[in-house]
Parts: sequence; C-alpha cells; structure tokens
Amino acid sequence: MTPQPDPHNPGAPPPDRARVLGALEALHARYRACDEGRIADYIPELAKADPACFAISIVTVGGEVFEVGDHARTFTIQSLSKPFTYALALADRGREHVMQRVGVEPSGDSFDSIIRLDANNRPHNPMVNAGAIAVTSMIEGDSQAHRLERMLEMLGRTMGRRPAIDEAVFESERSTGHRNRAMAHLMLNFAILDRDVEEILDLYFKQCSVVVSSSDMATMAATLANGGVNPKTGELAVRREYIRDVLTVMHTCGMYNYAGEWAYTVGLPAKSGVSGGIIAVVPGQFGICVYSPPVDERGNSVRGIRVFEDLSRSSGMHVFETWHQQGRVLDHIDRAEDPSPALPDTTQPVGDATVHKREPGPDDEAPDLH
Ligand code: GLN
Repeated sequence: MTPQPDPHNPGAPPPDRARVLGALEALHARYRACDEGRIADYIPELAKADPACFAISIVTVGGEVFEVGDHARTFTIQSLSKPFTYALALADRGREHVMQRVGVEPSGDSFDSIIRLDANNRPHNPMVNAGAIAVTSMIEGDSQAHRLERMLEMLGRTMGRRPAIDEAVFESERSTGHRNRAMAHLMLNFAILDRDVEEILDLYFKQCSVVVSSSDMATMAATLANGGVNPKTGELAVRREYIRDVLTVMHTCGMYNYAGEWAYTVGLPAKSGVSGGIIAVVPGQFGICVYSPPVDERGNSVRGIRVFEDLSRSSGMHVFETWHQQGRVLDHIDRAEDPSPALPDTTQPVGDATVHKREPGPDDEAPDLH
C-alpha cells in the first residue's frame, strides 16, 4: 500500500512525524491511568475486553499513519459501522427512499432507545440502533448471503483489507439482543422494515461483529475525510456524493445523547461504538480513532472523549476553529496556545434554588369560597 499524494495539498511535505507522534504519545501517557468507565457487558462477549487497552491512530488523506499504544489490538466494530452502512444504503436506494424511512434529527435519547420514533413513525437518525437496523435492511442483494457479501466488501474497501466476523460476539448479540428485536418489530409494524425481522437482525448483528483495529478504523475515517477514496489503497470505497450526508449525521448524531456537547467541545463529525472505539473526521485532512474499552453511561469511551477534548483544544481541529481554516491541523498539533477553554462544570445547579420561592403577599390570601 503506497501512500498517495495529498490530493488537497499536492506537493505539500508530509506532516512532521516526530512532532505528531510526540503529541500522540503525550496524550497516551496523560490518560493511560484514567480508570473511569465500565466495559459494556449487556452483550456478554464484550465483557471480555481488556480495560487497559488503549490506542490512538491517525491516517491522513496522503496515506501517512501515526499511531501509539495497542493499535493492532482487535475489537468488534459495533456502532462504528453505522456511518458506512448508511453510505451504502444511500448508494443502493438513493436519498429519497432512505430519508422517507430514517430521519436526520438528533434524538437526545440513548443509542438503544425504544421509547420513540419521530412524528412520521421513522427512527430519528441512522446513528442510533433503530435507524441503523432500518438502514441495514436497505442494503441490496439477491439473498442474505449476497447482502452480507456486499456489506463486507464495502467495509473492506474502506479499511483496505477483507474483514472477518467475530462469531462469538455475533452469537452473543443474537441471543441477547431483545431490545433491538423489539425495535425491529415496532418498525415492521410501521412498514419501515418490509421483510423478515430475524434475517435483518442477523445482518445487523453480523455488521456489529466485524473485527477491526484502531488502525483500520482510522483508515476508514480517513476515507471519509478523503472524499470516499481510501488514501492507502487509492480505491474508491464510498460514493463521493454521499460523504456530506454521512458526515452531517455523524456531526449531529454520532455521539448519541452527548452529540451536542461533543460538537461544542470537540467539533468534529464522529461516531462511537460500545466496544470502546471513537472515530472522528477532519474533512480534507485526516481520520482518527481512539480505542479504549471502558465506556460511560452513554456508551462512549471515557478515555476516547478525554483524548479528543484535549486534542481539539491543543490542535485547534474543531471545524469552526479559525486555526483549522488556516492550514493543516497536524502542522500545529502541539501548539502551546489554547484559544478554546474547556467546558465549565455544569453539573452543579446555579445558585440556591430556594431564592426562586416567592414570599406570600397580601393578594395571596385564601380565596373566600362563600
Ligand atoms: N451491537 C450493539 C447494539 O446493537 C451496538 C451498539 C453500540 O455500539 N452503541 O446494541
């Protein structure tokens, strides 16, 4: 796999290797000892993950790779697959068909919420489970085997190698995934799904059980950063016309009910998965993956969020940061200046709630009922 010239910056020298790796090593050292979060165990096989595992990988649109920690360690892709199957469904069925069945509105609910569909009885967006199951059902093929093959082919093109499925995780999801099953039946009721629910769920569970490493995921994110062309292989993996759709829903919905705060503090289209990966895309520049299995109550990797918030502050990679618009983020990844302060602690109420109580006045006397 020969690195391609940076299509957005032809002739530009590659980023300074030592500087980028130094910044990633510093981040890794800073958050290695963080012991917050819990390994997701609602899918029993996932509980076997090693909480100490921690990797950061960057792949640029020029095909350069920068990574530290356990970047070759494999894990199941889980929800990190959702942006890619969304792109495939859009390419297979077109925008209108997909939009009629799955919205693009953040739900504010958890990833596995079965509480609501939207006013049109559609799942809110393709990044939560309900929407992703609907999207998976739209992958075209003559048979179940053909649909699976097309999905694996597409994921394979974005990562640059043929992916495998972790059969133990797949069986574990299939035998315990009753929430997903409930959502699927609800969607069958509203004709969002139109064929055998168990078959659709099998495909969805296989999709979630695809085996990846943080290197693979950074390459997949870099493919989105690079207009759909895998920068390591030069192969077209995602149709360019749908990249904008995919990045938009990642930006507004990719981090579930943390999406708003993420957009504020990190400011990049991103996706998290319950096995502990988070990917983000700096459009036109690079893809990045942080892998660390302990997740918070929203199902987002704790070390992952820490690393991204820190990196966004120090590098100015937030999409609305003026630094970002002035050049390549990796050229100033470790600049000392910090123009965007951390989000203040908003978990404590402001002031004393009792001050809002009104003192009783003369008009507040008990009404005369006679
Ligand atoms: N396979 C998982 C599920 O459907 C994916 C969820 C996730 O990664 N957030 O429950």
